[in-house]
Amino acid sequence: MKPGYYGNWGGAFVPEILHETFRQLNAVFAEAQADPSFWQQYVDLMASYSCRPTPLTLAENLTRRFGGAQIYIKREDLNHTGAHKANNVMGQGLLVRRMGKTRVIAETGAGQHGVATATMAAKFGLACTIYMGEEDVQRQRPNVFWMEKLGATVVPVTSGSRTLKDAINEAFRDWVANMDSTHYVMGTVCGPHPFPAMVAWFQKIIGEETRRQILAAHGRLPARVYACVGGGSNAMGIFQGFMADEEVELVGVEAGGKGLTTGQHAARLTAEEAGNHPAGTPGVAQGYKTMFLQDSDGQMKDTHSVAAGLDYIGVSPMLADLWEGGRVRMAAATDAEVMEALQLTMASEGIIPALESAHAFVQAFREAGELPPEAAIVINQSGRGDKDIFTIAHAFKDPSWQAFIRAKGEEYAKEPAS
Ligand SMILES: *Cc1c(COP(=O)(O)O)cnc(C)c1O
Repeated sequence: MKPGYYGNWGGAFVPEILHETFRQLNAVFAEAQADPSFWQQYVDLMASYSCRPTPLTLAENLTRRFGGAQIYIKREDLNHTGAHKANNVMGQGLLVRRMGKTRVIAETGAGQHGVATATMAAKFGLACTIYMGEEDVQRQRPNVFWMEKLGATVVPVTSGSRTLKDAINEAFRDWVANMDSTHYVMGTVCGPHPFPAMVAWFQKIIGEETRRQILAAHGRLPARVYACVGGGSNAMGIFQGFMADEEVELVGVEAGGKGLTTGQHAARLTAEEAGNHPAGTPGVAQGYKTMFLQDSDGQMKDTHSVAAGLDYIGVSPMLADLWEGGRVRMAAATDAEVMEALQLTMASEGIIPALESAHAFVQAFREAGELPPEAAIVINQSGRGDKDIFTIAHAFKDPSWQAFIRAKGEEYAKEPAS
């Protein structure tokens, strides 16, 4: 198999001018992987800066409610900056130091990856520029504020639709102009090789810890592991801990938005019904080959999810391969189901999952009752929901909120807090 390919997916479709930069990146990454002291340095950094190992929590009240498998929650929400994104950005920070570069750039939609990258840049003493669609700058004021206070320059992108995909183009332009000094911090397991491999390598810390923790707590492997899938980094992170354990079923949950039949979702791999084709089709964009949400001319479609972190047209080439080979099962959760699962988790366990993470909870809740009490399942809680306060409050403020959120799915995702 060609390097950087996962079955039919992946690759590195980059302009010639960046070939030397990619060669250097591949070399430094390979060196780091071959050096056990690098991984130890990473683990130590995450322990002292980001609360690792994060706990595995038994959700006793939810377990009792569903009357089936023991429900465990892997607490990535307890990372510094509130999500698993810290694992990736801090790891890439160590690689930047090894390369001797002095500046990092990133693109961000909702701003979470921007805040994580700006945090890493402050800690490592790097200059930092974050590209963000102007539309998103307006919608995500608090994150813009923190990025700037952390020392980053936030550049609003005014071209095109003024959202994430335009920000990606601008960030690439910057990289081409400044490649000697600058590293592009990819936010998930997508993009051209070696980014999927690199981000997955850092995120595997989640799965390695979880495997040890569930064996200690439960005495055997879990029957199923659930994770939400935007680009796929938290899912690949936890799945890697169980990839060789065939008895552990791996379940990825995409954004079903307003429903798979509405066209307003971000479900690339999940078929509407068994036997149907998924909405995604093979394509090459943004430097790699995967299943994209696109029309028959290859124009990228508009996606929708209440969870900004899942609202993306592509998906990891690694997950496309694992899905195609049947190792990972894909499902989708709608916005309305997500709000219900969130409410239940908050009231039952005193835990506030991020809207993204709540997608994984939906699917786990659907299936927990099918399994016997001797079985365990693990839900990867990729992040904490504090950032979603205005979206959640808006959805809940109507007394008949369930009907409300079904009817107004689009609005509550888009309306700024007032
Ligand atoms: C960004 C984000 C995601 C989506 O990214 P993946 O690469 O699919 O993990 C999921 N959950 C949270 C909390 C996020 O911030």
